[in-house]
Amino acid sequence: MKKLKKIEVLRELLNENIEILRCPVCKNSIKAITENSVLCENNHCFNISKKGYVNLIQNNTKTIYDKSLFESRRKIYEDKTYDKLSKEIIAIIDKYTANKDSNYILDAGCGEGYYLNQLYLNNKINKKCRLFGIDISREGISLATSYENNILWSVSDLANLPFKNSKFDIILDILSPSNYKEFKRVLNKEGIVIKVVPDEHYLQEIRSKIKGNIKKETYSNKDIIDVFKDNLEIVYDNRITYRINPSNLEEFIKMTPLTSSLSQDQMNELIKSNIENITIDLNVIVGKIK
Ligand SMILES: [Zn+2]
Repeated sequence: MKKLKKIEVLRELLNENIEILRCPVCKNSIKAITENSVLCENNHCFNISKKGYVNLIQNNTKTIYDKSLFESRRKIYEDKTYDKLSKEIIAIIDKYTANKDSNYILDAGCGEGYYLNQLYLNNKINKKCRLFGIDISREGISLATSYENNILWSVSDLANLPFKNSKFDIILDILSPSNYKEFKRVLNKEGIVIKVVPDEHYLQEIRSKIKGNIKKETYSNKDIIDVFKDNLEIVYDNRITYRINPSNLEEFIKMTPLTSSLSQDQMNELIKSNIENITIDLNVIVGKIK
C-alpha cells in the first residue's frame, strides 16, 4: 500500500473529526476540508501545512519557546529522562478509558508532542483513544509532526480551543498553563484533567545556580494546585521524585523556561558549571468536573 503523505493523513484526520471541530473565530461548525485549508460555515479560512498540521490561529503570536528549545526537549525525551512520568500517564489513561471503545484525548500545550506520541505507541491505549495535540507555538507543533502517527496536530490557543462542547474524555496538561473554563467546556461530564506540575525540588540544581535566584531554590506549587481545586475535584494525586545524571547538561539547560531570561554569557556559565545530578520532582494530579 502506498504510504500517505503527511498532508493526506491530516486531511483524513480532519474529515474524520470534522464534527467535533469549531471555528475559533465565529465558533460555528467547520463545513469543508479543502486541498490546503479548513473552512468554517462563515468562510473563515485556516491553512493546512504540508508538514501535517492545521493552523487554527489567525494572528500568530511569538512565544518565548523557540525552535531550539523544542529540539533540546526532544533530545532530553529521547534519553528517556521523563520515562517514569510517561508510564504514569499511560497507567492513569488506561484506567480511565477502561469502559469505552473510543476515547477522545487532548494534550493542551503538547509542545513537540512526546507524551501523545508515547500514547500512540502504546497498543492498548492506541486501540481505544483518538489523540489530539494543540500548542500555541508553531515551532513546537511543527516538530511534533515529525513523529510517525495519526495524531491530529494543530496550532491553537488554549484560551480558545477549536472544539465543540463536551467532546473530550481526557485533557492532558503537562508542565503547561491551564485554562479551566475552556477545559470544562470541551470535556464531557465524566471527563478528567491530568495535570503535571513541578514540585518543591524540581530542577533545584539548575534553580540554585541561576544568579539572583537563590531564594527560589525550592519552589511552591500551592497556588497552582489551589486554582486546580477551585475548578475540579481531585480524584488522584501522586508525587514522582527521582534524580538523573544528565548525559547532556547543555540540552537540559536549554530546554527549560527557567533559563529563558538569561543572557548568552549566563547560559554558557551555567552550562560549564559542575551540575552532576538533576532532581525531577513532579506532582501528577487528576481532577474531574464537580
Ligand atoms: Zn468562522
